[in-house]
Amino acid sequence: MKSLYAADIRDNQLVDALFLVAAKNHGVTKGGSSYLTLRLIDRSGEIEARVWDRADDLGRGFDKNDFVRVRGQATLYQGKMQIRVQDVLRVDESKVAPEDFLPKSAFDPESMLEELQAILRGIKNPHLLALAEACFADAELMHLLKHAPGAKTIHHPYLSGLLEHTLSLLKLIHKVVENYRDIDVDILLIGGFLHDIGKVHEFSFDRAVEYTDAGQLLGHLVMEVEMVNQKIAMIPDFPEELAMLVKHMLVSHHGAYEFGSPKLPQTVEAVILHSLDDLDGKIQAIQNLPEKEPGSKWTAFHRAYGRSFYRATVGRDEDNQAGNWVEKPEKIEVTNPFDNSVIDTVPRADAQDLEKALVYAERGAKVMAKLWSYERWKILRKAADMMAARNEELGQLISKEEGKIIAEGRGEANRAVETIMGSAEEAKRLHGETVPLDADPTGSKKLGFTLRIPCGVVAAIAPFNFPLNLVAHKVGPALAAGNSVIVKPASDTPLSALKLTEILLEAGLPAEGIQCLTGSGGEIGDALVADRRVRKVTFTGSREIGERICRTAGIKKVTMELGSNSPVIVMPDADLDKVSTVLAMTGYGNAGQTCISTQRVLTAKKVYGDLLSSMKPKVEALTTGNQLDEKSKIGPMVKESEAIRVDSWISEAVGSGARLVAGGGRRGSIYLPAVVADVRPDMRISRDELFGPAVAMTPFETIEEAIALANDSIYGLAAGIFTENVEWAMKFAREAEAGNLHVNWGSQWRVDLMPYGGLKESGFGKEGPKYAVQEMSELKMVVFHLNS
Ligand code: NAP
Repeated sequence: MKSLYAADIRDNQLVDALFLVAAKNHGVTKGGSSYLTLRLIDRSGEIEARVWDRADDLGRGFDKNDFVRVRGQATLYQGKMQIRVQDVLRVDESKVAPEDFLPKSAFDPESMLEELQAILRGIKNPHLLALAEACFADAELMHLLKHAPGAKTIHHPYLSGLLEHTLSLLKLIHKVVENYRDIDVDILLIGGFLHDIGKVHEFSFDRAVEYTDAGQLLGHLVMEVEMVNQKIAMIPDFPEELAMLVKHMLVSHHGAYEFGSPKLPQTVEAVILHSLDDLDGKIQAIQNLPEKEPGSKWTAFHRAYGRSFYRATVGRDEDNQAGNWVEKPEKIEVTNPFDNSVIDTVPRADAQDLEKALVYAERGAKVMAKLWSYERWKILRKAADMMAARNEELGQLISKEEGKIIAEGRGEANRAVETIMGSAEEAKRLHGETVPLDADPTGSKKLGFTLRIPCGVVAAIAPFNFPLNLVAHKVGPALAAGNSVIVKPASDTPLSALKLTEILLEAGLPAEGIQCLTGSGGEIGDALVADRRVRKVTFTGSREIGERICRTAGIKKVTMELGSNSPVIVMPDADLDKVSTVLAMTGYGNAGQTCISTQRVLTAKKVYGDLLSSMKPKVEALTTGNQLDEKSKIGPMVKESEAIRVDSWISEAVGSGARLVAGGGRRGSIYLPAVVADVRPDMRISRDELFGPAVAMTPFETIEEAIALANDSIYGLAAGIFTENVEWAMKFAREAEAGNLHVNWGSQWRVDLMPYGGLKESGFGKEGPKYAVQEMSELKMVVFHLNS
């Protein structure tokens, strides 16, 4: 037996143990030195190993699928245990104990043994019953039987497989004998029990080799005959002919000479035993292998005969794509919205890709939960530094795929650095608290505290309009809290999310910690959010999709950052020059495609005309054009269909009595920034989320009316008021139904550390790293019931 298994290896431990090499990859450092990355496995699992010294030399001595003796020291590297190898040496298969590399039966060996004994105690022939009892009394034999595998290559090749096979064979025997006359059930049962019993020793190579050259096929027959001889010798008056019949069952059970059987079956019972043995083996082999090789039952079955159990059965995942970029023939084209040119393509994930991502993420959740806070801080901190160093590249990418002007692209890239940096800091601050249980009348001698734990797998679904920073707002806190994440970016803008994923992996995030799945939300979204392995869904996007996700998600934590039609109130005492300057920013930034974009401007009647006059030149000065041109103030909308939609909503309002004071009209995917006056609350550009570069102006008489108009919406994300009157400002702060309120500014303002989120149908839950880590974690209560 091995003295050390992969799963038991701890940080700093000296390692000297046997493993199977599941992967061997050669690498070269930046300085030009060779190194090897190995994936080593045994029955407990797997561990990575790195060979830094003498990599070329050592690497020549062994290959993938070889058994090796590895000496070195374990170290925790980026949250994963790894062996720094000093020496690695190929070891001959015959020196390896198979049980060190085999998985276990799905059934409990103790219960299987009990069931087997109960069946055999039904034997009526007293001599055969005595033979069975003699075997049961042999504690060492029973111990070996409980653990031995059924075969090395063909069927039941896992620990306790022999017992599993023997038991199902006896059950099959019972079923078959019901159909025939004159079958000796007792001889069949004892034959079934003992037909492979020699295998308990066959899996100790030393003994098997004593009997056969290969130590394999014939060995167990010889050994079980010898064992049966010994047991029979202990039973008084065991008839010789009966002993011959029992041994015939054993030596003929392979049915032909091909597997080393010295005899063909000569009796009906021996034929039945041979056939049922073969049947059970085949059933098990076919049922087991297709799991590994879907869709190829027969090939899998036949191949099974030809391959060594070492290579066939240890749970290896050759297909592990975690941390790798996966190509697919099905693509999504990512276009520059300004000229529709294709800037890149990304794979279009389907249900199978989602399933893989879920499997990796589930594994990743365990890996992430084991990282301690400092490690998580280090990874996120490093990622933030790398993002800062690549600001221009990220800014350009955001701008190209989303359409926002380059200054906004750079600004978003800078903000994303703050978001990831803030998340790193929160990784260090996530903690529980003591709870004063003795403050309760029944709380004496109780000590209580809370523990914060990760949720597990987080599904992070992001919209197109801030393709980097809104992804960072989900991924950063999720990782900070020790979760794994599956990111689903918007199909229009997946490139920034992929870049963030790449940076996080480069910064040392464990490969299974993040999966970025590009694909249509309509195709894979429902399955992602409904899956039970996902424990938290964090979504930013439209109200409609948000509502669908809430219905689909089932019982799991959900955060919803949804849309809005944010109002801004302009009181008669406001500084109108400032108001118009601010509104020309907060109503039109990112071509109005910001969830908190100012959409409804509610203005006191007394200053309504003056404000319109003040706004007109400022909005008309917002030059439109190619977003990558530094002179453009407004770029295209995310796609032409969006510009067409905005145009139709504004035309509809104008057709119903509203007035276009500035801008309006479309050039391809660009909509010219517009001011629409005399808008009634029931018009679509006031009632629904416009998400375009226009504001809807509506007059009011009193502050009460203004607040009522502001609140007359299903949404409640952000709102603003311009006034110098502290009473009006406070009334607004108390009564306006929105999650983010601004006094003397428009609705669109955010720094990334603040708690951010909506009321009403704008959603629930807060973002901003400090608040989001709470949403991304669960609270456990621990109570100590003390004696004093
Ligand atoms: P969207 O159409 O709702 O899409 C958002 C995300 O959901 C995309 O990744 C989309 O994938 C995915 N999705 C679509 N169907 C899905 C399903 N059945 N299950 C799961 N996911 C699904 O929103 P958008 O047009 O990208 O973004 C604009 C909206 O986001 C606006 O309403 C805006 O107000 C809101 N928003 C809110 C905030 C906030 O913080 N409150 C911030 C920014 C934006 P596909 O792209 O593949 O369809």
